[in-house]
Amino acid sequence: MSLTVPDARRNASPYLYGREAASVARVLEAGQYGHTDLTVEFESRIAEHLGVPDVVAVSSGTAALHSALLAVGIGPGDDVIVPSMTFCATVQVIRAVGAAPRFIDVDPATLCVTPQLVMDAVTDDTAAVLPVLFGGRAVDLGPIRDDLAERGIVVIEDAAHAFGSRCGPRPVGGDETALTCFSFGPVKNLTCGQGGAVIPRTPEDASAVRRLRMLGVAQSRSERAETTGYRVEGFGLRYQLSSINAAIGLAQLDHFDTTVRTRRHVWRTYRDALDALDGVMLVDVDFDRTVPHLCQVRVPRRDHIFAHLRARGIGVGVHYPPNHLQPAFARWTRDLPATERVSREVLSLPFHQHLTEGDVHRVVTALGHALKVTGGS
Ligand SMILES: *Cc1c(COP(=O)(O)O)cnc(C)c1O
Repeated sequence: MSLTVPDARRNASPYLYGREAASVARVLEAGQYGHTDLTVEFESRIAEHLGVPDVVAVSSGTAALHSALLAVGIGPGDDVIVPSMTFCATVQVIRAVGAAPRFIDVDPATLCVTPQLVMDAVTDDTAAVLPVLFGGRAVDLGPIRDDLAERGIVVIEDAAHAFGSRCGPRPVGGDETALTCFSFGPVKNLTCGQGGAVIPRTPEDASAVRRLRMLGVAQSRSERAETTGYRVEGFGLRYQLSSINAAIGLAQLDHFDTTVRTRRHVWRTYRDALDALDGVMLVDVDFDRTVPHLCQVRVPRRDHIFAHLRARGIGVGVHYPPNHLQPAFARWTRDLPATERVSREVLSLPFHQHLTEGDVHRVVTALGHALKVTGGS
């Protein structure tokens, strides 16, 4: 059994179109690996792709979120509203700036926060909201946008899963009332190997993030080339996107339409095949808007099914263990009944562009078998 589904052994996997290696080789031969014109070209191409005025590329999705929080001045004494149901990076960046995570529940149907859940958690200490665009699904905080703005609460979207998705008529990243953070990590919809980007609301956001990613040095490369020193104008870290990674991202971007088509095709194949199974609920993707990042089901006896499939070489995963139950975040834990319930049910099926229709059917057959044999106890 384990050898019949080779590509399904991995839960996620990058997909290369072939020109990435040559692009990286050219950068290596050119001998300039840091922030170069190629990084700037990557930023313009992403901006053009999304139809947004400006993009600031950084070294990871975590760096994007950290820079965004720093750029808008979130720090000690501030509360940041965040769903517990997210990758731990979303919470670690809140701790990195010395702020406190205020964990909230999600809608079990979408695994995303809703305007109501956010408003219920707002207090006088709330400085920011960090909605997570889970699985690629956009979160529309439109109904509470004015309320949040009046209270001076900043929205920073964790769109690590959602490159290419839309929110109504606009692309994710095209909301001028929110900063949006993308990850271009190894298994995200678009990969640079490692990388990320902040889509700023304003030119001020953009220059703040540009300075932060360059160790607090504000001058452009050409300005620095013309002076004898450099000026450190504020706090900053080494968060630039290397041209080696930008080269991978540029090659990937050339084929992004194919990425979207393939991801949707694999997801639809799963949806149709899963239709025949009882006891499995698919976490839905709205295709008009979403480039799917995960294929998640909710099943009873999840841990047994997980073990059964793993033992048969099928790369199932769990996105994610809830953060409010993690030891590192115990100080900020609270009762989140919906999160606790769905986090015991969610199972991520292998989902990436190497999967054939045959692979998908074999995974679904194995899942059906797992449901049957674990159901007896
Ligand atoms: C991947 C991911 C991040 C962090 O991005 P990196 O590029 O891995 O640093 C943040 N939030 C979510 C939801 C993610 O999936």
